[in-house]
Amino acid sequence: MSKADYYEVLGVERDASSGEIKKAYRKVAIKFHPDKNPDDQSAEEKFKEAAEAYEILGDDDKRAKYDRFGHQAFDGSGGFGGGGGMNMDDIFSHFGDIFGGGGGSPFGDFFGGGGGGGRRQRKGSNLRIKLKLNLQEMSKGVEKKVRIKRYNSCEPCNGTGAKNGTDLDTCQQCHGSGQVQKVVNTMLGQMVSNTTCPSCNGEGKIIKNKCESCHGEGRLYTEEEVAINIPPGVDDGMQLSMRGKGNMPKGGGVAGDLLIVIEAIEDEQLHRDGENIHFELHLSFMDAALGTTVEIPTLNGNVKVPIDAGTQSGKVLRLRGKGIRDINGYGVGDQLIHVSVFTPTKLTGEEKDLLKKLKESKNFLPTQEHKKEKSKNFFSRMKDFFAQ
Ligand SMILES: [Zn+2]
Ligand SMILES: [Zn+2]
Repeated sequence: MSKADYYEVLGVERDASSGEIKKAYRKVAIKFHPDKNPDDQSAEEKFKEAAEAYEILGDDDKRAKYDRFGHQAFDGSGGFGGGGGMNMDDIFSHFGDIFGGGGGSPFGDFFGGGGGGGRRQRKGSNLRIKLKLNLQEMSKGVEKKVRIKRYNSCEPCNGTGAKNGTDLDTCQQCHGSGQVQKVVNTMLGQMVSNTTCPSCNGEGKIIKNKCESCHGEGRLYTEEEVAINIPPGVDDGMQLSMRGKGNMPKGGGVAGDLLIVIEAIEDEQLHRDGENIHFELHLSFMDAALGTTVEIPTLNGNVKVPIDAGTQSGKVLRLRGKGIRDINGYGVGDQLIHVSVFTPTKLTGEEKDLLKKLKESKNFLPTQEHKKEKSKNFFSRMKDFFAQ
């Protein structure tokens, strides 16, 4: 299925400012909000489409990628960074940002009249862990099992906090809805607004007898093992998230997320720079002069690489496609081999004599051509240096 252009979805020009995009999204989101268009499938689709468009265009980095690569910039990614697969929770979680207001949901209040307010559940806090990965794991992806401690739903009371999960009374003030109504003035005129019931804190129920396991909290601090799937191409400092593996809030609701920050373990031989891998090859003077075949470590094991006779120090050889796959699927990097010729530092008298004999041969003197080539490289490197 081909996707509509994100700029068209929000009805803005391609050079729209971020303020204009935010404003346009707010307009479209209000128009197609599900509470305003009950049982209207096409409105819900449009609502989601707009949220997806805003997810991309509202973020400078993602917008730049979209401008360059279009929708395919966000397809087939490792499960994050893309706009695909947003659910209503994702969409509503952005509204605090779009519609302002501290903590609550002014947006929900505008349209909450008949909806019962049951859509938004209280969410627990997120957990953040660091995960150390070596180069191979970051390159190929890996499944890691880690033990985490978090507040989980209390089983004996089913997260309710009440004895046996049933020792509850319906709240008298809100009659179980968790919401009480009041009339407020909003930018759309006077409206009936639903707010959280102060008696039961939005639970709709009041605990008569507390659960003995959790003392009425509805949650327990537990340790558990989580399997984390790392997609190929992650890099140092990237953050992944696992929905629902964070803390459960007090009194029930939905768990927060587990945020996983990637920490790279430096490889002794292979050095990563984005999608490329750098490797320094130390050659003896003889091998550089006569040519040879060397074994080079790569992310996929050793490979044999021929070295031409007359190879100079500083030469860079490229192993195409032996780098790291881009996390967004744009392609695979290369491995670059930087040749460094070793000059001997300890010589016996016999070795010195041999070298002195060779010294008389003019083939051992740097040629004019060589000097020209090297100085050209030197100055272009200097230029790059000062351009930074
Ligand atoms: Zn109540
Ligand atoms: Zn309990």
